Amino acid sequence: MHISESAPLVVIGAGLGGLSAAIHLVAAGERVVILEQNTAVGGKMSLLQADGFTWDCGPSVITMRPALENLFAAAGRRLADYVTLSPVAPLTRYFYPDGTVFDATRDLPDMLRQIAAFAPHDVEGYLAFLSHAAALHRVAGQLFIYNDPPTLASAFGIPLRDVLKVDIWRTMHGAHRTYVRSPKLQQLLGRFATYVGGSPYQTSAVYNVIAHVELSDGIWYPQGGAYQLARAYQRLAEELGVEIRTGSRVTGITVKEGCARGVSLADGDYLEARAVIANVDVTTVYRELLPPEIALRRRRSLSRIEPSGSGFALLLGIEGTFPALAQHNIFFSSDYRREFEALFRRRIVPREATIYVTATSKADPEHAPEGCENWFVLVNAPPIGPEFDWELEAGAVADAILAQLADYGYDVRSRLRCQYHLTPRDIAEHTGAWRGALYGLSPNDPLNVLRRPINRASEVRSLYFAGGTTHPGGGVPMVTLSGGVAARMALADLLKAD
Ligand SMILES: Cc1cc2nc3c(=O)[nH]c(=O)nc-3n(C[C@H](O)[C@H](O)[C@H](O)COP(=O)(O)OP(=O)(O)OC[C@H]3O[C@@H](n4cnc5c(N)ncnc54)[C@H](O)[C@@H]3O)c2cc1C
Repeated sequence: MHISESAPLVVIGAGLGGLSAAIHLVAAGERVVILEQNTAVGGKMSLLQADGFTWDCGPSVITMRPALENLFAAAGRRLADYVTLSPVAPLTRYFYPDGTVFDATRDLPDMLRQIAAFAPHDVEGYLAFLSHAAALHRVAGQLFIYNDPPTLASAFGIPLRDVLKVDIWRTMHGAHRTYVRSPKLQQLLGRFATYVGGSPYQTSAVYNVIAHVELSDGIWYPQGGAYQLARAYQRLAEELGVEIRTGSRVTGITVKEGCARGVSLADGDYLEARAVIANVDVTTVYRELLPPEIALRRRRSLSRIEPSGSGFALLLGIEGTFPALAQHNIFFSSDYRREFEALFRRRIVPREATIYVTATSKADPEHAPEGCENWFVLVNAPPIGPEFDWELEAGAVADAILAQLADYGYDVRSRLRCQYHLTPRDIAEHTGAWRGALYGLSPNDPLNVLRRPINRASEVRSLYFAGGTTHPGGGVPMVTLSGGVAARMALADLLKAD
């Protein structure tokens, strides 16, 4: 079938995965157009400015710095020339209902001193857990994160003694119990399950790699706020010649003779494409963008798989400053197991939730008027479903969060200059995330690691996926890696076709 040589490679979506794919493709000499439905790039990484405040509305915990640096290096540039990443210390300040405050840190002697203060018997166990997580990262990282999607052949390429380290069949909590006895430490380590939208009591222990990535390698703050990272990717892409068309909603992918050959836009335009890279949630691609006759079976099977958790965020403009808060703060619920039962078995937001609070105005004072702070407050939420009606419940959830913070000594209710919220429905609408999921398929089912769609569509040639719902998964560094995988696959196929 004839396709014009001058037709570009089309990326649908300017989330970080889409921008990453575009950067890799343009760096390899391809012409690339990104079509983004919103007026700004970044997808789940977004920004709200109102009432003199600026809030990062999406990711705020940035880990795996080398994954970001490697994207810029692939284009012959340095990340540091586009955005400054500063190490965050402490990593996170944890507040427990009994009044304990614990600063998780990469500084091992400091970390061990704090553990010794409330759980002396767990000092050795914590060290053993860190070594376990580092070993897991070495093996599982090669299999599940840093290379192309895993296959039987790649699994067989790993020595048996290493395969046994890939801790798939236990739960994260099951593994934590074997290393540390303190419920507080177990709760702290269990929280990393939420980085992939799961429960520590269900998510496979292989995800303990996250503990290694954060507790040993650290968290980074992009100066000016997390959204500076999206701006950095955008600037690099545009400097290299990527054309980014915002306000361009794709309504369909045209398939001719089994190949993705173009896209239709909401304004009636049609754009021919030598290949299409979808940064949209893969389930949404099958449900909404591909012709039903091609994708019916896959659409049904993907729609049936439980997606990861979502989130409910409060954006608060608060009078006053709170020196006792660190950059990242967690206020734990008193019954972690019950909280996750509510989220993932009953699929509701628990009345008592674990609450994350960050205020970028601490590092960037211009994000709030003088004497004020810009709190971004996040709780876990189930993916959108019939069990929980956000239209009815959002106000009550917001009130419960504010009341719970008050119980912790942070009663900001009389100091609010402004208050906005973001529900899973808003996230779904803004980014196309199926059921508002933040991280693709649910990690609560260990088999979903194997069910995750790979970056090359199996039903349609010349169609590739980049982003959190494909390999290697969700989160800022992971989607950055996924762009590289999708681009590699597209370039290899284009080379074969020439
Ligand atoms: C509240 C929140 C907190 C988070 N916290 C963290 C964190 O602390 N650390 C971390 O690493 N990760 C975090 N994440 C997850 C992280 O933000 C995502 O994994 C990542 O940004 C997703 O990138 P993506 O490439 O999958 O694309 P997305 O961000 O999903 O973007 C997809 C893009 O495609 C566009 N699009 C969709 N449909 C169409 C269409 N039909 N036509 C044109 N364009 C379309 C969308 O508008 C969007 O811009 C958080 C996410 C949220 C929402």
